Amino acid sequence: MDRPEIITELKQNPKLDVLIVGAGINGAGTFLDMAVNGLRVLLVDRGDFCSGASATSSHMAHGGIRYLENGEFRLVREAVAERNRMIKNSPHMVKPLPTVIPMFKLFSGFLNAPLKFVNLLDKPSERGAAVIKIGLMFYDSFTGKNRTVPAHRFFGRKETFARYPLLNKGVKYTAEYYDGLMLSPERLNTEIVLDAEKENPQAMALNYAPLVGIEKDCAVLNDLVSGEKIHVKPSIIINAAGPWIDNVNERLGIKTKFIGGTKGSHIILNTPTLKKAIGNREFFFENKDGRIVLLLPFFDKVIIGTSDLPINDPDDAFCTPEEEVYFIELVKRVFPEIPILPEQIVFRFSGVRPLEFQEAKTTGQITRDHSIKEETVNEIKLMNLVGGKWTSYRAFGEQACNRAMEILGKQRIRSTENFAIGGGKNYPPTSMDEDRYLSQLISKNAGDTNIVRMLYERYGTLVTEILSVGPVELLTSNPLISKNEIKYLTNNEKVEYLDDLLLRRSSLGWLGYITASSLIEICDLVGDELGWDKDRKVVEIDRVKKLFEKNHGVKI
Ligand SMILES: Cc1cc2nc3c(=O)[nH]c(=O)nc-3n(C[C@H](O)[C@H](O)[C@H](O)COP(=O)(O)OP(=O)(O)OC[C@H]3O[C@@H](n4cnc5c(N)ncnc54)[C@H](O)[C@@H]3O)c2cc1C
Repeated sequence: MDRPEIITELKQNPKLDVLIVGAGINGAGTFLDMAVNGLRVLLVDRGDFCSGASATSSHMAHGGIRYLENGEFRLVREAVAERNRMIKNSPHMVKPLPTVIPMFKLFSGFLNAPLKFVNLLDKPSERGAAVIKIGLMFYDSFTGKNRTVPAHRFFGRKETFARYPLLNKGVKYTAEYYDGLMLSPERLNTEIVLDAEKENPQAMALNYAPLVGIEKDCAVLNDLVSGEKIHVKPSIIINAAGPWIDNVNERLGIKTKFIGGTKGSHIILNTPTLKKAIGNREFFFENKDGRIVLLLPFFDKVIIGTSDLPINDPDDAFCTPEEEVYFIELVKRVFPEIPILPEQIVFRFSGVRPLEFQEAKTTGQITRDHSIKEETVNEIKLMNLVGGKWTSYRAFGEQACNRAMEILGKQRIRSTENFAIGGGKNYPPTSMDEDRYLSQLISKNAGDTNIVRMLYERYGTLVTEILSVGPVELLTSNPLISKNEIKYLTNNEKVEYLDDLLLRRSSLGWLGYITASSLIEICDLVGDELGWDKDRKVVEIDRVKKLFEKNHGVKI
């Protein structure tokens, strides 16, 4: 259903099994599970889908090897299983990621790990090779039979420098293990929402519709597009507002302190030398103070992160100049000969980890696990989805749906364990199948090989829909962007504002592709599809420029 159809439907029949507040990954994952299980469910967000914490992750589908040190075995086991499922069910967006840990010492951290485990050590500290080896053995064992990635390997100095000649000469060992790389978490989140709607006409999703209050048995939403209020009558409200959970509860008239989030920032660099040095591998290491650092391959760019700083208001999370300097300095620890310049930064992003509020000693010690906290508001059951990781979204959604069905007296009919997402449906399983699939597409659409491949890499098997828009045409302002993808995404993926398309339906903004001229050309295309007049186009361009500068430090 499109937006006007959903609003008409809700006016005619406001009763819902469940209202989910917050369309980040936890709201979206719960929405999909409820959709396939036949519930009448509405998902709303105050902004676009995936515009909160889920849009600021480190792009890793991972079990979280370092959480073993905090004794979080349940979480790591679950997240490793979910990482494997993400690689299988979203193969277009989640790729096996070889991850390299450079190590400067053999034994450091031997004492620290057990002390941390029993909560006697409150400062982060550098870990040596022996501790890391033990951690990796545990980590591999959690993969069990459902292996989608190879087991870890250890390399001494000679092999390490043969593989990575530009590494710091002080490195004594490297370990290589596998996790998953999420290429475009924002897009994946939206695909999950759209798939849920396709599965069940009773599953409806509205972006730009914040929950603003509660009146008796009605939750009140504000349709920011029309300015109208919408009243719905849910049996259960799921608060999946991530870092804003306590704010949403305030709107519902209850005071909670579930969240004690920390801020994390990243920068994206256009640095061909560093990209060449890391190849398709992530480098995951510790700074001298034990803080985790990552260098991540991101298309032809490199992501560097991340910080872990206390913050009060999640709306105040921005990447600061001090963080930028810190990130650039970090590269020197591992690749001292590769100069990194501030002007190589093409994008910045920052968000708040919705961690459970705990009186922990350091931010690193706060649990990364998730839980459901229940309350009642005006006799409506309220389930708060607290904590969690991107990677464990499906399991968390399943647990939330199980509990909701128990309250509603309904039975599970289907699992999402093997549900292929968006452009991961009918994905060619091997590289030979992939070549065959692409050559068929190219001959059928008389398309240019490189362009068809580029669209396939961005959208998976949705490329067939994108090509069916018409003969492939590229933007005059940027030959790396096709008019076909802009038109397809605009017409089929609930785009309300121009930034929805640039930042969340596609990665075009993240890759530094948006210049003054491409912005105008894209805005014209989107506007023509959505019926925007000249004034609206001016407003949209201005909105994007302000938003890119404020949130991402990008001047267009
Ligand atoms: C810096 C950083 C790095 C991370 N790295 C990783 C990683 O590499 N791998 C991993 O697995 N996890 C990672 N995480 C964790 C993961 O991203 C989060 O746990 C997850 O995205 C939380 O999702 P969520 O849906 O709970 O919250 P969110 O994504 O924040 O969603 C909550 C939504 O609620 C909406 N909302 C707020 N108020 C209202 C209202 N009144 N009405 C309607 N909607 C409202 C917001 O707009 C928002 O979209 C990272 C997190 C951060 C911040």
